[in-house]
Amino acid sequence: MDLSIIINFSYIISAALFIFGLKMLSSPATARKGNTLSAIGMLLAIIAALVSQGIDYKWIALGMAAGGVIGFFAARLVAMTAMPEMVAIFNGFGGAASLLLAWFEYSGKYQGNDLAPVFTAIVLVLSIFIGGMTFSGSMIAWGKLSEKISGKPYLFSGQHIVNIIIIATALGLSVLFAMNPGEGNFYLLILIAVALVFGVMSVIPIGGADMPVVIALLNSYSGIAACAAGFVIHNNILIVAGALVGASGIILTNIMCKAMNRSLANVLFSGFGAVTVSGAGGQVDQGEVRPATAEDVYYILEAADSVAFVPGYGLAVAQAQHQVRELGEILEKNGTDVQYAIHPVAGRMPGHMNVLLAEANVPYDQLIEMDDINPNMETVDVVVVIGANDVVNPAALEDESSPIYGMPIIEVHRAKTVIVLKRSMSPGFAGIQNALFFNDNTRMFFGDAKASITGLIAEFKGS
Ligand code: NDP
Repeated sequence: MDLSIIINFSYIISAALFIFGLKMLSSPATARKGNTLSAIGMLLAIIAALVSQGIDYKWIALGMAAGGVIGFFAARLVAMTAMPEMVAIFNGFGGAASLLLAWFEYSGKYQGNDLAPVFTAIVLVLSIFIGGMTFSGSMIAWGKLSEKISGKPYLFSGQHIVNIIIIATALGLSVLFAMNPGEGNFYLLILIAVALVFGVMSVIPIGGADMPVVIALLNSYSGIAACAAGFVIHNNILIVAGALVGASGIILTNIMCKAMNRSLANVLFSGFGAVTVSGAGGQVDQGEVRPATAEDVYYILEAADSVAFVPGYGLAVAQAQHQVRELGEILEKNGTDVQYAIHPVAGRMPGHMNVLLAEANVPYDQLIEMDDINPNMETVDVVVVIGANDVVNPAALEDESSPIYGMPIIEVHRAKTVIVLKRSMSPGFAGIQNALFFNDNTRMFFGDAKASITGLIAEFKGS
């Protein structure tokens, strides 16, 4: 059989595996299988692409081995809380790879040849510009998330004008390149520099806490750059994979913005986090909170018929997921109905809580989405909020002056009793106080979530 038929057939299978894999990622029960399926698709795509090229495999094998080893250890060693940083680096490298691929193809095929087709010139500058800005933007996102650079939004007057000038320069360079492709390397080099500057300029005005949304967007950009690079080198699977990443990245960005009730423009341009909130919704005197000890909480939980855990970013910081599952099992043995209520933007990356709880083997059927638990909240005896803050802040429903007003929340304040596990009265991501903590039906169980739950388990075991 003709080799090109086998290669194209492999590409079709890879594309199908990517699509089914993506579909399976939408449920925690099938996500792992989906991931494996997509990985198999990628392996098949890589093998088919390499076979189709007739290149020197020695360097490819070396590159794959080095990349494989680095990727393996990076994935194994990364802390769950550092996952968004790792994704930022991956996106950046994806963008850089598309840039290099397109540039290399140009140098090898079209440089010195004035007959480069206009379409190729367009996709070439697209993959170089978008790839370059994705790389530098992702590096800034990584720096902000890992606190290597300040997470504060960097705003200056005339910022938008500078950005418009940068885009106009990029457009001008692209036109000059398309008019003179044979001698275009000079323009491409300046375009790369402009793209790198634009990536930095696009991300520095955004606060560190909004980086997960930015990363989803950069993920989409890296897909578009790869798709354009696929057109440059005439590789069908790169076009398909790039388009899938581009589309899923923008869908995810949209879901995250909706869950925070913010527009993408607000995330990108408002400098959220630049101003400390005070006054209504901010740090105001709301009275005294009611602290509780492990023993107090034990008695409350022991008597409860139904308990809903509401995890948040603090669960990831404390790495308390295994202890939470153990406590959940103890409660179930005690005859209590146990659920885990998941907010779509709890934590610092999409699906953060699902990933944590899945790691601890919490049964999927106990994971309840926000919209499903809210209507039944009054019937829940005890809600245990574990390191969540903004996603349970009633100000989002009641206080029009609050920066999170309009964001859908898990309405735990409507449950019969609320226990909040956190270390102090410090605010969460949005930097605002939470009136929930001062409610009559709320008890504050202060301490690191892992230590607090371990203490609770000890109370149950000692009883
Ligand atoms: P928050 O950031 O609102 O609150 C986390 C809380 O965890 C803090 O109040 C902190 O209080 C507590 N905490 C931290 N460490 C520990 C610990 N070791 N033990 C116990 N508690 C701890 O988190 P939420 O999950 O409620 O909300 C997520 C926020 O992030 C939302 O505002 C959302 O919009 C935003 N966001 C989420 C994204 C996503 O994709 N998930 C993306 C972008 C933004 P203390 O220091 O007192 O312990």
